[in-house]
Amino acid sequence: MTDPVAADPSPGIQSRVLVVGAGFGGLYAARSLARHRASVTLVDKRGYQTFQPLLYQVATGLLPRDVVEYPIHEVHGVESITATVDHIDLVASQARFADGVSRSFDYLVLATGASVNFFGTPGAAEHALPLYTADDALAIKAALQRAGQADQDLHIVVIGAGPTGVEVTGAIRDVVDYVLPHTFPAMARHQVHLHLVDHAKAPLSHFSAESQADATRVLTEAGVILHMGTTVTEVRGDGVVLEDGSHLAAEVVIWAGGLTVNAPTTSPAPATDSAGRITIDATLRMSGHDHVYAIGDAAATAVDPLPQLGSVAKQQGLHVAHSIRRQIRGKEPKAFTYRDLGEMAMIRHDHAVVEAGPRHHEVTGLAAFTMWLGLHAALLPDNGDRLAAVEAWAHENLTGRSQFLAD
Ligand SMILES: Cc1cc2nc3c(=O)[nH]c(=O)nc-3n(C[C@H](O)[C@H](O)[C@H](O)COP(=O)(O)OP(=O)(O)OC[C@H]3O[C@@H](n4cnc5c(N)ncnc54)[C@H](O)[C@@H]3O)c2cc1C
Repeated sequence: MTDPVAADPSPGIQSRVLVVGAGFGGLYAARSLARHRASVTLVDKRGYQTFQPLLYQVATGLLPRDVVEYPIHEVHGVESITATVDHIDLVASQARFADGVSRSFDYLVLATGASVNFFGTPGAAEHALPLYTADDALAIKAALQRAGQADQDLHIVVIGAGPTGVEVTGAIRDVVDYVLPHTFPAMARHQVHLHLVDHAKAPLSHFSAESQADATRVLTEAGVILHMGTTVTEVRGDGVVLEDGSHLAAEVVIWAGGLTVNAPTTSPAPATDSAGRITIDATLRMSGHDHVYAIGDAAATAVDPLPQLGSVAKQQGLHVAHSIRRQIRGKEPKAFTYRDLGEMAMIRHDHAVVEAGPRHHEVTGLAAFTMWLGLHAALLPDNGDRLAAVEAWAHENLTGRSQFLAD
């Protein structure tokens, strides 16, 4: 059925929509608005949408950087600007860029996402490697290569056993077991000691008990040493210190331990929750500001906040585009409803857990990959070269023919 709001192309032409942040939320909002001829400016400090779900493949040398970065200048019908927005004046409806230039807007979509949170852990910022951008992924890859080429055993500590920590740990194990013997036999012959640390009692702590048990079993069988129910109190150049004072030696420490919200300062300051996420109402607007939306990782409703997931941000981006088109036509925006597509963690290349609604599924082999590909294909911002590259890699991975990309 034709969407009556989308069908009328004329009213949006004069309204200026400023979208800050080109992640899943901002990118999908901007693209959808542009298709309906609104005047859209998309600003991102990096100039790319980073496809974070595939960063661990870049960090482990299985996919090249360009697969996970989508340049904003390729978004049709949108004015794209690579710049940092450092302040937003909600009263004057103006955004100020880091170079001092200001931009007025009629509608604002704040979609600045989240970034690494070291929670004040001494030494973490200096010695631990986060995984949030393509640069982060390449830094991890370089550290693994450097350490792996030294003529000694390799010790790696991954801090944080949520989906990111579990996936990166499993991917490192896969690379060592299946990929390096073919491509870098010298690196593969060393013993690799892989540690995963989390203060939760089990990996994947916000998944079901069955998924946690499954992740524990698969990782343990793969030789990963789990340190659950403990905290890293210090990261040093030679490893980490745990809360009982013990020291885990490591040449490479990867931080998958937490997030903090990324947002420009705003006047007046918005209400935020304990995690720093901007409080929004059911229509995804900031309270008291009818033309200002905040979405994705950077925002949450006060009641039943949604998880920080690409699927949430994407659906919210599409919803605010629809809402802004309604407002331009003099209608009220509707409340946002999340369509839960489930959550998944690839524990190893042939083993995943999938949770959709109250159900838990343990999926292995081809079925795991098919679901993994389906979920990621639904999120990929274009269906061309990038999806082809991911499919080719997935096939190689499944058939044991993946290659470690040396640079
Ligand atoms: C390693 C990893 C793996 C993940 N895997 C999955 C997965 O498998 N499935 C899933 O659903 N989710 C996954 N996620 C979560 C998912 O990537 C995030 O929930 C999603 O990216 C949030 O989208 P967003 O639009 O809110 O923010 P982001 O995607 O973080 O985008 C925010 C954008 O804002 C820009 N920005 C920030 N501040 C400014 C500023 N002041 N001015 C201008 N631009 C700014 C940034 O450059 C960035 O491009 C993963 C996350 C990570 C880190």
